[in-house]
Amino acid sequence: MVSTLMQAREFKNSWRIYREDHDCPYWKHPEEVVEIQNRNLAQQVDLVAKYHPYYRELFAEHGLEAGDIRNLEDLERVPLTRKRDYLEKPMDFRLSPRQISPRDILYEVTYTTGVTTGEPAPFFNTTHDMFAGALQMRRMCEIAWMTPEDIILNLFPFGIAPHIGFYRTMWFCAAAGMRNVFAFTGSGFPEFPVHNSMHRAIDLAETCMASVISGIGSYERRFLREARRQGRGLSNLRIVMALGEAVPRRMRDDMREMLTEMGARDIFINNAFGFTEMQGAMPECVEYGGSHNPSPELYFLEVVDGDTGRRKPEGESGALAVTHLNRRGTVLLRYLLGDIGIVDYGVCPNCGRSGGRLVVKEGGTYTAHSSELLEINGVRIDPVSLNDELCDIKGLEEYQVVITGGDSSDSRSHDKLVVRIAPASGFNVGSLKQEIARRVKRAVDISPRVEAVPIGEIYDINASLKVQRLVDARGGQDPDHVIR
Ligand SMILES: [Zn+2]
Repeated sequence: MVSTLMQAREFKNSWRIYREDHDCPYWKHPEEVVEIQNRNLAQQVDLVAKYHPYYRELFAEHGLEAGDIRNLEDLERVPLTRKRDYLEKPMDFRLSPRQISPRDILYEVTYTTGVTTGEPAPFFNTTHDMFAGALQMRRMCEIAWMTPEDIILNLFPFGIAPHIGFYRTMWFCAAAGMRNVFAFTGSGFPEFPVHNSMHRAIDLAETCMASVISGIGSYERRFLREARRQGRGLSNLRIVMALGEAVPRRMRDDMREMLTEMGARDIFINNAFGFTEMQGAMPECVEYGGSHNPSPELYFLEVVDGDTGRRKPEGESGALAVTHLNRRGTVLLRYLLGDIGIVDYGVCPNCGRSGGRLVVKEGGTYTAHSSELLEINGVRIDPVSLNDELCDIKGLEEYQVVITGGDSSDSRSHDKLVVRIAPASGFNVGSLKQEIARRVKRAVDISPRVEAVPIGEIYDINASLKVQRLVDARGGQDPDHVIR
């Protein structure tokens, strides 16, 4: 899909819902965006200083007052908030419930997922946040080239905890006036058997003539693989909203190839970067062209040194932190997402929007999870090239790379790299193992042990929405580095 600045403007002007969004900040000059962000931040900090249990205490500890934090520059004085601070006391991150106006009643709770230690943490939205979020969703649809004529198949599971994937897909359909068909996959309580199989979800995609699917990238890939195996036709499909994880180039190419075989044309695989703390996703305007902040008036994304909290110069890679600028439920300031990335605040050369966007450095992905920057026996491994090699192997349904520690009583004992694989049916496991060993050696210069396991051991859609592709099992993990 090729885009020019003019096409993006034309697209915006050709749909009433986008055309009438006169205050949309990302079409303003970057300096104007900063002015809006400064204004909103000052108001947010005033509320936080009055009503927010965690930051009231933090400000007192550091001798900070609301008047000290009036703009984005001042924000650097606020210490970083780490995942463990929030997970330990999620209720303390909610603006006091005895507040502010009638539109601040509690409306919805979603949860962080993929939690490997402790309970999932609740994230609260008031009515104020829901309305702001609906506009955010509409703007996300505009950036991703979705229109009121689209038909979305919601491939997120109806899971055991309310997760933004399932609910925000529903809301972005609502906000842009699109039709939403629920695949309703997953499996919850046997007492209430409401869930659909993947087979049924493929039926739905065909019969509703879905033009967009929205789900976890790796699940969508399995879905497409199964649809192709069954000889289905998905010729109406034009956008894959691939969320929840980095979808590298070869994985996108694989999905595009399968869709082309099923009759689809001009496919846009949109690897939007989404997270609970933004209650949505940053979509791409074109593939690899930038992951856009759809609501810079609500969220400020910052690249920092994760240890000192110092802001990094624009264009440098570092830890990503988000600050809420206009929220009333859960409010976070300088919250470390656990990802490494690069932000550009200028005008996007592909679509002309400002507001801040993540840019691709290499390998076709925007972020690396902090836990993926690993050393094995003193050698730093490159997760992107490892991922690329493994994504490319035919007959590999799913995989997981596990790093285990050696025997601590034996100084000659070293860390081990284990690749757990779920082979697709009909493939020879022995030759698959050999190919994987060869490719991993090529990518990271380490010979792995390859183990075949049932897919449920790698990817249980009820336990976690996404595959944890890299697991450091050497112990002593920092929760900032394992939870997402
Ligand atoms: Zn763009």
